[in-house]
Amino acid sequence: SPIPDYLNKVLENARANNDGAPAAYIETLANADTSKMAVALATVDGKVYSAGDDQVEFSIQSISKAFVYALAIEDAGLSRVLEKIGVEPSGEKFNQLSLEKKTNRPMNPMINAGAITAHSLVVGPDATAEERTDRILNSLSKLAGRQLHVDEEVYEAELRDADRNMAIGYMLKAAGIISCDPRVVVKGYIRQCAITVNVSDLAIMAATLCNAGVHPVTGEKIIPQLSVRQVLSVMTTCGMYDAAGDWVSRVGFPAKSGVAGGIIGTLPGQVGIAAFSPKLDERGNSVRGVIICEQLSNDMGLHMMDVS
Ligand code: GLN
Repeated sequence: SPIPDYLNKVLENARANNDGAPAAYIETLANADTSKMAVALATVDGKVYSAGDDQVEFSIQSISKAFVYALAIEDAGLSRVLEKIGVEPSGEKFNQLSLEKKTNRPMNPMINAGAITAHSLVVGPDATAEERTDRILNSLSKLAGRQLHVDEEVYEAELRDADRNMAIGYMLKAAGIISCDPRVVVKGYIRQCAITVNVSDLAIMAATLCNAGVHPVTGEKIIPQLSVRQVLSVMTTCGMYDAAGDWVSRVGFPAKSGVAGGIIGTLPGQVGIAAFSPKLDERGNSVRGVIICEQLSNDMGLHMMDVS
């Protein structure tokens, strides 16, 4: 069929670029096979197309932040979430130790400080680490349409070198943004990041976001409309970290990247996209993943500011 053939061409075009390097600060990711590459599309009427290494599983990492933000809104309510986490692009690295000057809030839920806070708001302030991670794993599994798992090796590797995220946790506690034990919250957040997916899982998860929260295959309403709007808004302004402006102008749809090399994109009402390739640019976004998304956007007219 023409779509997989086209997707294979897109992959071959991206393969010409050898720039970047896999994340160095998580040992398992540093040793990733950098030749692996995959892409998937899921339409809002439930058709999934994929090409390349579409069976390869990798950790979801920061892509989880979009979906956990939706859960935090569902569990704590939007106004409480907004009291704790801002919605402004930070223009800083994803793991920067920084808070908004006036409010003490993390700038947005797509950087680590905001994502760790969002994690703490899932279930409730007195929840155990297990209750939170179970809720997150179940929700992500429902979105993927199959049971997902935590990669214990990735989890342990990140936990061994978690000083920076622990520091962010303590900063949040000192600022009164989280009230529970920062170590518990950061561990839970690192577990959430170690859930593994393939590109088809991610494309379906993205398609649920662009289908008003309704799963395109099962037809189940999973994410409330209010959360979808909020999540897609912050993905647009903050999903690619300090490359957000560049991304919106060049590619033009809400997106979220992860440090294992995954990227999701969502064109509301149309299609969910996922790309995977482990080598990252200096902002922590997959080099080939960005090239793949840019080509899809150009070829298929997906830029949200283009009128078709
Ligand atoms: N687990 C990673 C971290 O906290 C996620 C970062 C990312 O994917 N950008 O550093």
